Amino acid sequence: MPERFPASLQQKIEDRLRYYEDLGIRLFYTERGPGGASFAVPEAVASASSPTPVFEEIALPKSTPKPAPAKPAPIAAPPPLVVPPSGPSLFESTDKLKDDTLLKIREDLGECTRCKLHKGRNKIVFGDGNPKAQLVFVGEGPGADEDMQGLPFVGRAGKLLTQMIEAMGLQRSDVYICNVVKCRPPENRAPEPDEVAACSPFLIRQIDSIHPKVIVCLGATAAKTILNTTRGISQFRCEWLEWRGHKLMATYHPAYLLRNPPAKADVWKDLQKVMAELGLQLPKKSKS
Ligand code: SF4
Repeated sequence: MPERFPASLQQKIEDRLRYYEDLGIRLFYTERGPGGASFAVPEAVASASSPTPVFEEIALPKSTPKPAPAKPAPIAAPPPLVVPPSGPSLFESTDKLKDDTLLKIREDLGECTRCKLHKGRNKIVFGDGNPKAQLVFVGEGPGADEDMQGLPFVGRAGKLLTQMIEAMGLQRSDVYICNVVKCRPPENRAPEPDEVAACSPFLIRQIDSIHPKVIVCLGATAAKTILNTTRGISQFRCEWLEWRGHKLMATYHPAYLLRNPPAKADVWKDLQKVMAELGLQLPKKSKS
């Protein structure tokens, strides 16, 4: 392979391609210099021949001296809210506390023993990110890595979530990430109703304090718990829902995407709706 880039840059490019591949973006080309392929492209990416329409806007441009600047695709108007069936909720109808802050909520949570999940935890995973975020991601509960570090979404699924956030043109520090329950359920089982009921006032206070424009619910368990519905997530993902006065989009959990990569395209559709709602444009490709 001809040397066109320093090894460090080549590695960076390869990492970047894998990053997009992880998101299910497969519309890449292999730039060719006089001697052939200029850098290694992961096989799964290089072999994909048909563009995935949903990712067309962020495909790398063909190598031309001065490509015409692409006009950003118009952002579609958000569809009407769809409110799912409601019933008795595990989330109390809590009045919004005036001047509540994440710091105060964390202090009030303390070394919580309000439910049985405290017995097996290493660390409470309260939440992390921008206290004034316009976008909040909510998962169902911490896993093993999160339990050890006390931070949400830090394992493999967390890395994929970070990539999803960056694909939206944001940094992790721009958003807020938390879970329905703040202690790890044993064997990563779904949180039980009494655990959700005990922990939910803190999630409600977090959301009320941050007051985001959009909540993205990650995974069926979190979505069904928060929305108090028995419908499968595939029936209402990609729809705008309403929860406590906030627009909510439910999508698949990054851990599910690791097991089922084709679902990444669906998640990207959901995130594009969120981007439109937040007025975010697809990030432009860097020239490096
Ligand atoms: S899950 Fe929530 S309510 Fe239960 S012990 Fe942990 S912090 Fe407390």
